[in-house]
Amino acid sequence: MAREYERLRLTFPEFCGCETCRDDVMVFALNRVRPHYVTQRRGAVIARVRMERDQEVADISVALVEGFRRVHESPRPDHGDRPA
Ligand SMILES: [Zn+2]
Repeated sequence: MAREYERLRLTFPEFCGCETCRDDVMVFALNRVRPHYVTQRRGAVIARVRMERDQEVADISVALVEGFRRVHESPRPDHGDRPA
């Protein structure tokens, strides 16, 4: 997840990227993907999970991109030290 964040962060050069914003993106993405994975893992055999790992990374990427947009468009009200 953190590695995907760093990778996608490069595609959002205008994104703030401070710790607060990073955490917001991560939490947002985690909340989006976690229920899906819990459901998926409950009855899945290991081989199937392994096969779907690429799909998991894709899902995480989508959730992270969505998180970047959300956090960028509506930064925290107390977010004061946004770099120029
Ligand atoms: Zn920030």
